[in-house]
Amino acid sequence: MTRLILATRNTGKITELRAILAEAGLPHELIGADAYPDIPDVKETGVTFAENALLKAHALAQATGIPAVADDSGLCVDVLGGAPGILSARWAGRHGDDQANLDLLLAQLSDIAEEHRGAHFACAAALALPDGTERVVEGRLTGTLRHAPAGTNGFGYDPILQPDGQTRTCAELTPAEKNAISHRGKAFRALVPVVRELLG
Ligand code: IMP
Repeated sequence: MTRLILATRNTGKITELRAILAEAGLPHELIGADAYPDIPDVKETGVTFAENALLKAHALAQATGIPAVADDSGLCVDVLGGAPGILSARWAGRHGDDQANLDLLLAQLSDIAEEHRGAHFACAAALALPDGTERVVEGRLTGTLRHAPAGTNGFGYDPILQPDGQTRTCAELTPAEKNAISHRGKAFRALVPVVRELLG
C-alpha cells in the first residue's frame, strides 16, 4: 500500500484528510509528521499560501522519501486587500496568539459597514513526491465578518467569520458542519484526483 505523509502534528487535520481519502476509495495509508520527530519544522518563507504549502511538502518528501502533503491557510479580508493572509497566525505580532489576532482585526474593522465586511478563509494543499514532482490546489470558505465574536468551537478567526448562507459563525457550527464547507476540506477534497493521478 502506498504511504502518504501529512506535514502536521495536528491530529484533527490527519483525521480529516484520512476520512476524505477513505471516502474517495483511495487505499493510501496516511501518517502524520510526528512519525518522524527528528525532522525540523520548515521556515515558511513564501509569500503565498501555495508557496508555503509547497515548501513544507517538498521538505518532508525529501526528508522521508515518502510522498508528502502540506497545507497552509489563513483569513483574507476584502477591505484589507487580502490581509492578514499568510500573516494570519501572527497578525498581532506573536505567533499563535489567536485572541490578540482577533481583537486587533476587529479593532481595525470597527468603522467598516456590514456591506464591506466580506472575507474568506483560504487553504492551499500541496502534494510533493520525493522525485520533485509537485501539485498544489486551493479551497475557500467565503463569508462576512461579525462586529463581535460568537461561539466557542474551532480556533483562530472562527468566532468572527459567518459563512455565506449561514446565520451562525464558524465557531457556532459543529466540527462536522464546518469540515463539510471549510477551505481545508475543499482543498483536501481537490487533492483526491491529484493523488489518484500521481500515485495511482
Ligand atoms: P494554518 O496554516 O492552518 O496553521 O493557519 C494559519 C492561521 O490562519 C491560523 O493560526 C489562524 O489564525 C488562521 N486560520 C486558518 N484556518 C482557520 C480556520 O479554519 N479557522 C480560523 N482561523 C483559521
